[in-house]
This record gives sequence, structure tokens and C-alpha cells, in this order.
Amino acid sequence: MTQIISHILPDVRRAAGSGHRDDALAPAGHFINGTFTPGGGSIDVVNPSTGEPITTVAAGTTDDVDSAVAAARAAQPAWGAMTPRERSEVLHLIADRLAANSDDLMRLESLNTGKPPAVAEDDVSSAVDTFRFMAGACRTMSSLAAGDYAAGHTSVILREPLGVVGVITPWNYPLLMAAWKLAPILAAGNTVVLKPSEQTPLTTLKLAELIADIIPAGVVNIVTGYGDPVGSRISAHPDIALVALTGSVGSGSAVAAAAAPSRKRVHLELGGKAPVLVFADADLADVARGVRTAGFWNSGQECGAACRVLVHESVAEALIEQLVREIGTLVVGEPGAGADVEIGPMVSEAHFERVKGFLDRAAAEGLQAAVGGGPLPGPGYFIAPTVLTGAREGSEATRNEIFGPVVTVETFATDEEAVRRANETEYGLAASVWTSDAKRSTAIPRKLDFGTVWVNSHLVLANEVPWGGFKGSGYGRDLSLYALDDFSRTKHVMTNHGA
Ligand code: NAD
Repeated sequence: MTQIISHILPDVRRAAGSGHRDDALAPAGHFINGTFTPGGGSIDVVNPSTGEPITTVAAGTTDDVDSAVAAARAAQPAWGAMTPRERSEVLHLIADRLAANSDDLMRLESLNTGKPPAVAEDDVSSAVDTFRFMAGACRTMSSLAAGDYAAGHTSVILREPLGVVGVITPWNYPLLMAAWKLAPILAAGNTVVLKPSEQTPLTTLKLAELIADIIPAGVVNIVTGYGDPVGSRISAHPDIALVALTGSVGSGSAVAAAAAPSRKRVHLELGGKAPVLVFADADLADVARGVRTAGFWNSGQECGAACRVLVHESVAEALIEQLVREIGTLVVGEPGAGADVEIGPMVSEAHFERVKGFLDRAAAEGLQAAVGGGPLPGPGYFIAPTVLTGAREGSEATRNEIFGPVVTVETFATDEEAVRRANETEYGLAASVWTSDAKRSTAIPRKLDFGTVWVNSHLVLANEVPWGGFKGSGYGRDLSLYALDDFSRTKHVMTNHGA
């Protein structure tokens, strides 16, 4: 049983209505070669705010993946031969269509994931911006200027599409992660076979429905279903040139292993456990506000979440006081319960049990909940926003990705210890440094082994800058021109013009 140390837990604010209209749901079949085709099998899609079923979708097979790959392969030469300007125009149309349907997309995303309204709104508007950015960016793509590097020979570097790209997305940002992959992959001239998470397929199917009359048949194909067999077939398929996964470390290893025999490229965006380094000279009120937002965004189900505070021992008590004040006022509720709801449910019962398990073991290990500490009454899979203190070096709660509304606090004595402890994790996705000292703000980020380091901020993203990790958080970059690099290939053409 979870030990709740001292607190009155927040109430879960409930919505008045069911919060969804069935007419917003897309057809439940696979989207292959420009049309929805019914699939076999049936996967229940559940509303995590209530535990009630919403609908079912098809459980795809290897044959479904093979049909989708055949359609993508047939469509690729014509799509790849379009000029960047022509592809750019299509991407702008997709952005316009998503923006025009943002209410439906937000509602569906919140229904399926339990996302608070502000998160759903941010997801949809960010997805629109990703398509707009890539629409512009693909028109700027170039390579080295031609040059003579060997006697009598001129070199030209061409940038080409890879071919068919496979994409596998997670449940925490279903639409946004689909956009992060689709936009650069399409912009670079590839065609796609995408599998959404079996738990959250609704907005991806909606996206397909919305763009069906914009995108040429076969350019985007969606196959719903489980990691095995759909994800594993995408990873292994010999006609797929690259497989891109956003998901857990374990799935990343499975995808890379399945991809190896076909020697396809692999692009992995995996988990994270972002340290938040708070030095004695930091503005503690800023830190507490930053952790309130960045530690609990998307109910903590966020790979870059500010979930592991490492604070200088001289200011630890003062920071914990401020964190308790901030985190203790987070509004918990169903997405339909008001625009001010900040924390929703965990995405599924299984994930709720997983997060609860972390809290139980942390309590058994002697960590204290300064605020929160356990599950909230159902229906639905709600966990109280929690700050755990008293973590010793190496505690499970500070090492592993909890992926819920739980932030741990540890202390350090010196800058060297802060850096060493921050880097002592298998993950390398993101970190933040909080200090008012100019030298520290420049020196410490260079010593941190994470793909993104914020200074006096956390979890601020933009389409112009890359996102991706080191170490166990994978490799490959989403967003920015670097994603266009990752989803294309260079070819050297050398012409002999010597006499
Ligand atoms: P998950 O790994 O369980 O599932 C992700 C996707 O992989 C799903 O579509 C799933 O069906 C599929 N999958 C599972 N096993 C597979 C296999 N053997 N072969 C092929 N596909 C397989 O992850 P999740 O629980 O859906 O998402 C949460 C994880 O995603 C967290 O670890 C989180 O940190 C990570 N994430 C990372 C980023 C990032 O940008 N780095 C962003 C969002 C989420």
C-alpha cells in the first residue's frame, strides 16, 4: 500500500458530459493507398478519465503492413520527383486542414489520452507549426556547392529521398509525434507507413481522414495494431529504407534488432529522466514555477519532463517549501472539467499501476512525499501530483523513468558532484541548469551528456531547433533542418571533364 505521508490529496474534478461526439471519429480501418480498408481483429480504445471504452480499431497483421509498404513504394517515385515547392504546397494544405479542424483534434486527443485542454491545444497548434516549418525548410535544402576536388573532375552532391520510411509512435503525444515524423519525412520526398500506439490511434486516423483528399494515394499509409506484429514487421520489412521510433528504450532495442538483417537506417527517440540542476545562486521561485510546468506537463507523461531535481544542499529546504506550494495547487481533473485543469489521468490502467508501483517502492525505501504520494479515487487512472524527498544516490525513483506526475528531489554539495550525478543515468535526452552565475550557465551545459540543455528554463521547444537524445535516449534528431538531414541521403556525382 502506498504510504501517504501528510497531505490532503486533491479532488479529481469531473466533467459534466461525456466530452466526445462520435461524429468526430474517423473510420476504424487501416488507411492504405488513400482509402480506409477494414482490418481484422479488434483493439479496445479506452477513455482513461473514466475507464470506459470509446471504440475499437483494427489489429493489423504483417499482410496489412506489406500492403501498405507496396502502396508507399508505388507512390514514392512520383512524390519524390516533385519539386520542393510542390511538396511544400501540399504540406501547407495539411497544416491548414489540421488548423481548421483543431477543435475536433483536441477533443479526440483529450478523450483518448486524458490530456488537459492546454496540452491538447499546444499539441495541435505545434503539429500545425511543424508542417508549416517543414513546408518552408524543405525549400532551403541544399548540399555542398559543386567543386573540383580531383584533377579534371567536378563533384556535385545531390540530396535524395530515402524511399519508404516506417514510423512507430507512442501514446503520450499521438498527433504531435505523428506530425514530427510525417512533416520532415514527406518534405524530403519519402513516402510513409505509420503505426500509431495501439492505445491512442484516434487522432492519427483522424489526420488520415482529414488529409485524404490532399495527399496523393499511397504517400501516407496508417496501419493500426500492436508492436508485434505491426511494429516488428515495419522494422524488418526489406522495402523500408529507414524505421523511426518514438517510444521506450526496450522498444528501441527491439526495433534496432529487427531492422539489422535488412540493414535499414534506424532513428530512435526514446525515454528520458531529465535532471534539473539547481545551484545555490538560482532564483528558487523561478525554479519552482518551472518545475510546476515542466515536471507536470502532460501529467508528467513527457520524455523531457523536469522530473529529477538535484539541488545544492544549502537551498534544498527553501526550494522544497516552494515546490510544495506550487505543486500543491495543481488542478487535477478530466479534460472536460474546465480550461484550468492541469493534470489528467495516466493513459491506461496498466500505466497507472506502474506509476503506483514506483510510489509504493519509493515509500518502502524511505522516501517521503512532501506533497501528493499516491493514487486518487476513480473512476479513471488519476495519481496525485507528487514531490518525493529524501532520495539517496541511486534510488530507483531517481534512476528510472516513472512517466507520471512525480518529481524527486536530491541534494548535492559541489558543482562536480552535481554534474557527475546528473550524468549517472542511462538516459541522455534533456536536462536543465538553474543559476544566476554567468560562468556556470556556460560551463555546466558543456559537461552534461544530454541532447538538449536549458539554462533557467525547461521544456521549451521550437520547430527551428533539434530534439533528440544521447545514450539510452536514442539517436536521430526530430524537428529543424537536422530532421530533414536524417530523413534524406546524399549522393556524390563526379564528372570527368578532363581532356
Ligand atoms: P512503447 O515503447 O511501449 O511504444 C511505442 C510504440 O512502439 C508503440 O506504437 C508500440 O506499439 C510500439 N512497439 C512496442 N514494441 C515494439 C516492438 N517490439 N517493435 C516495434 N514496435 C513496438 O512506448 P510508449 O509507452 O507508447 O511511450 C512512452 C515512451 O516513449 C517513454 O519511454 C517516453 O519517454 C518515450 N517518448 C520519447 C519521446 C522523445 O522524443 N524522445 C517522445 C515521446 C515519448
